[in-house]
Amino acid sequence: SVPLSFFGGIGGASKIGVLVKGSNYLEALAEVDTVVFDKTGTLTRGTFSVAAIHPENGYTESSLLEMAALAESFSDHPIAQSVRAAYTGELDSKRVTNSGNDSGHGVFATIDGKKAIVGNAKMLAKAGFTAPDCEIAGTILHVLVDTTYAGHIVIADTVKDDAKQTISDLHAAGVRRCVMLTGDRKEVAAAVSRELCLDEYHAQLLPGDKVERVEKLLASEGAKHKLAFVGDGINDAPVLTRADVGIAMGAMGSDAAIEAADIVLMDDKPSNIARAMRIARKTMGIVW
Ligand code: ADP
Ligand code: MG
Repeated sequence: SVPLSFFGGIGGASKIGVLVKGSNYLEALAEVDTVVFDKTGTLTRGTFSVAAIHPENGYTESSLLEMAALAESFSDHPIAQSVRAAYTGELDSKRVTNSGNDSGHGVFATIDGKKAIVGNAKMLAKAGFTAPDCEIAGTILHVLVDTTYAGHIVIADTVKDDAKQTISDLHAAGVRRCVMLTGDRKEVAAAVSRELCLDEYHAQLLPGDKVERVEKLLASEGAKHKLAFVGDGINDAPVLTRADVGIAMGAMGSDAAIEAADIVLMDDKPSNIARAMRIARKTMGIVW
């Protein structure tokens, strides 16, 4: 039978917008000592803005951005939304005859009969192209049209207001490892990690690599150590399932992530993780 205090704990958590799907997850959360975060949309706002446009090979800033925005017509990734928002002209999506996304890489589309791809260096490499070296600490979208490298677009994201305080609160609460996983470039990951004082980060990961990474982290500790994963994307569902406690950002999060999670944060504030942990420990009679 479930002790009555558990209902108090779940109720208390729900009052701050933290939905716990069962008392066992509250119990596990109280013992978590490794917290693994997805970067985009979890530690960072996930709302990007175009910071720079570098056309090449006859493209102009405007025609490069137009190509990218057309290719991103049908993607609901935050990156796609920012590229479309930055293009001020008309976007005629009838020019796009065939499009799709390649998870963790970018998007592809046929535009006016030409094959376009918009994505990271890995995406370009898959098409047989080598991306030029970019030293900037931003997320870079390379644009390839047929066999022409049309240039790259730099987009920037910012960390959430309460992210740094959350990491420091978690450390103060005895969480030994705060880890960030991301599909983004290591330059971006390093900058975010430094800003937030994270213990560890792993960049340029594909969705499958994130599961593998979490499994390694789980295996590196005894069974009594508990690991929580916090994420929001469709791709995060397998990792949310694998962690001892899967926490989804509910407001911007995908249905798949919310479904797979054990705990859902209604307002996407990382600080609610520290608050929920405090409630969990109080419920379990563990002194904070
Ligand atoms: P994260 O792991 O930080 O949550 P994602 O797994 O969603 O990020 O994406 C990883 C990387 O894949 C992005 O940093 C970007 O380089 C590329 N990417 C993903 N979706 C798109 C898109 N719609 N357009 C261009 N690039 C994309
Ligand atoms: Mg993500």
